[in-house]
Amino acid sequence: MSELNIPISKHSMIGNEKKYVNEALASGWISSSGKFIKRFEEDFAKFSNAPFAVSMSNGTTAIVTALKALGVGRGDEVIVPTLTFGATANAVATAGAAVVFADCATTSWNIDPEGIEKLITSKTKAIIAVHLYGHACNVMRIKELCDKYGLYLIEDCAEALGVEYRGSKVGAIGDIGTFSFFGNKNISTGEGGMCVTSSSDTDEKLRILRDHGMDPKKRYWHLEAGYNHRMTNLQAAIGTAQLENIEKLLKRRNEIHECYYNELVNENFFLDVAPPKSCSFVNWLFPLCLSDSCADSKKLLMDYLKGKGIDTRNFFFPLHQMSAYSSPPGDFPNATAFSKRGLNLPTYYHLSDQSVRIICKHVREFFSSQ
Ligand SMILES: *Cc1c(COP(=O)(O)O)cnc(C)c1O
Repeated sequence: MSELNIPISKHSMIGNEKKYVNEALASGWISSSGKFIKRFEEDFAKFSNAPFAVSMSNGTTAIVTALKALGVGRGDEVIVPTLTFGATANAVATAGAAVVFADCATTSWNIDPEGIEKLITSKTKAIIAVHLYGHACNVMRIKELCDKYGLYLIEDCAEALGVEYRGSKVGAIGDIGTFSFFGNKNISTGEGGMCVTSSSDTDEKLRILRDHGMDPKKRYWHLEAGYNHRMTNLQAAIGTAQLENIEKLLKRRNEIHECYYNELVNENFFLDVAPPKSCSFVNWLFPLCLSDSCADSKKLLMDYLKGKGIDTRNFFFPLHQMSAYSSPPGDFPNATAFSKRGLNLPTYYHLSDQSVRIICKHVREFFSSQ
C-alpha cells in the first residue's frame, strides 16, 4: 500500500562536491592538510561574517574544543537548555564541567533568557545558547547577561546555519559559534563541524587544541594535552562545494517551510510557533507543534505517517529527565510541554512541494479520523 518513501532528510550534493573530492584525492592530501581546508574555513568565515573559522571533526568536538579554548573545565558550571540535542550537554561533560539546565520560554522552544539569571552561581563560567530548529534564541539578551556576570557565550548553531538575529549571522554574536555538518544539517560534509570567533587569540587556541595541543611553530612539542579534532581535506572539499550553493540550499528549505505552513496553518491541531520578529529563520526540519488537545495523539500520528512511508522525528526529550546528567533539580514545564507536542517533518533540498502537500494531506486525514 505504502508507495511513498520520504526520509526525514537527504543530502543536497548538487554542485562541485564530486569534482572537488576527486581533486583532493588526486592532490594526495587526504588527511587534514590540503587546500580545501583553508578554502572551506575562509569561505565559511566570510559567509558567517566572522573573522575566523576553524574546522573540526564534527559539531560535538566543535563544542568541546570551544569550551576548552575558553578555559572551561573541572569545577566550572555551564548553563545549557534542557531542550536540545544531547551533544550540547555531552560536550560540557566531556570538557569536565558541570551541566546546569535551563527551561525554554512558553512561546519558543529556545532557552528563555529570563530564567537564566537565577541559575548563575560563583562557579558559572559559560552559557551555551542553542538556536534550535532553525529559530534564533534571544541571544542578545543572553549576551547582556554574559557581559553583566563575566561569562563566556557559546552559540550552538548546529541547526541554524544561515539564521540571522537582528541582521547578524548567528555564531558570530557570542565568543564562539559552533556548527555541525552531519548528514541531516543545512549543509553537510558527511561528518564535520566548525567554530567561528572574532578573537585571534581564541582562533589560535582552537587550532592548537584540535591538533594534539601541538605548538604550531614546533612540531611534536605539546603546549597542552590536546586532541585530534581535525576535519579532513576530503570533507572540506565537500564543504567548499556545499557553500558555493548555500543561498540556493537555504532558499529551498524556506520554500518548503512556506508550503508546509500554508497547508497547516488553518488546522486546529496546528500550534503556530513564530520565530522572534528580530530573527530570520531557516527551516532545518519542519517543526510541527500540536495544539494541547492533540498532543496526546502524536505517537499515533507518527506511526500513521510511518505506515504511509513518511519518516518523522520526535522533538528532543528534555535532558534533565535523563540519569546521564546530574544537573541540579528544577522545574522545566515549558521544555516538557514543547517536547510532548512537537515533531519534525521531512525537509531536504530535493523534497518537492507536491510531496509536502501529500504529507500534509496525510496529517489532516489522520486528525479527521480521530
Ligand atoms: C547535530 C547537533 C549537534 C552535534 O553535531 P554532530 O556533528 O552530530 O556532532 C550539536 N548540537 C545540536 C543542537 C545538534 O543538532
